[in-house]
Amino acid sequence: RQAPGRQVRSASFSAAVREQVHRRMALLADLDAALAEDRIEMYLQPQVRLADQNSVGAEALVRWRTREGSLVMPDHFIAVAEHTGAIVQIGQRMVEKAVAHLASWPDPRLRISVNLSLRQLEEPDFAAWVTAQCDAHGVARERLRLEITETAFAVHSEQVGPALAALTEAGFELSIDDFGTGQSSLGRLAEIAVHELKLDRSLVRGIEHDARARRVAGLIVELGRDLGVEVLAEGIETEGQLAVLQQLGCVLGQGWLFGRAEPATQFRLEA
Ligand code: C2E
Ligand code: MG
Ligand code: MG
Ligand code: MG
Repeated sequence: RQAPGRQVRSASFSAAVREQVHRRMALLADLDAALAEDRIEMYLQPQVRLADQNSVGAEALVRWRTREGSLVMPDHFIAVAEHTGAIVQIGQRMVEKAVAHLASWPDPRLRISVNLSLRQLEEPDFAAWVTAQCDAHGVARERLRLEITETAFAVHSEQVGPALAALTEAGFELSIDDFGTGQSSLGRLAEIAVHELKLDRSLVRGIEHDARARRVAGLIVELGRDLGVEVLAEGIETEGQLAVLQQLGCVLGQGWLFGRAEPATQFRLEA
């Protein structure tokens, strides 16, 4: 026999779940409209050379502007959008905006990194589509850096390996995001040429006070040096973290210490 308290709990639990599902569906109903009404916005966060803190470019981060004018952060919709497939259109929109923005920056040294979802790489002819975007705007392909998470990079599938190969052959540079936390991708690093490893924020966070975090970060910096791959530390918030990363020989970085993500329309770079 069930205790009465247990029944009460499960009833309120399902009410809470129902409400959550309801809210999520209402939000999702706005997503198509957001794409149609250009309310999928690109924010940019500077990426710098740690030695002099000059910008090398920026990372494009997606924001969803609701009809009421508030901003929804990616952590609240990327997973759902991956599930429904809407991420393909969102990701396309971000590539289009990044390429248009690059065309407006005359300095050919500056680049923009965009985040790609596995779903985009599974689209047939994705590499040809990105290539056409850059060519149409006269933007050199190596200025559009393509980030995929370490976990996505580690996936072996019929589409993803050839898609990554086609992208690098076309001259795009690949960056492995959240490196050091995902499923191990070391085997993939031996097979596919990448240009950058992004040292995950969770490793940067502990770097000042935690010897283990520091040694793991140091190992990743060394791996990058051995492979001839750039290492960019993400989530740098303090001068102390910056100092340790410089000591370790990390060349590139990104984080609130240098600048937060800002609307692309307001973003200015001091290179
Ligand atoms: P990510 O690619 O690893 O991006 C870095 C995240 O860390 C961003 O969060 C950024 O705002 C945040 N961040 C940067 N510097 C600092 C710092 O110093 N301290 C702290 N605490 N946080 C910092 P955001 O913009 O909320 O994006 C979250 C994640 O959503 C991204 O992580 C990325 O995985 C995903 N994402 C963002 N835009 C896109 C997109 O266009 N397409 C896809 N597929 N995923 C995206
Ligand atoms: Mg990223
Ligand atoms: Mg990252
Ligand atoms: Mg991250």
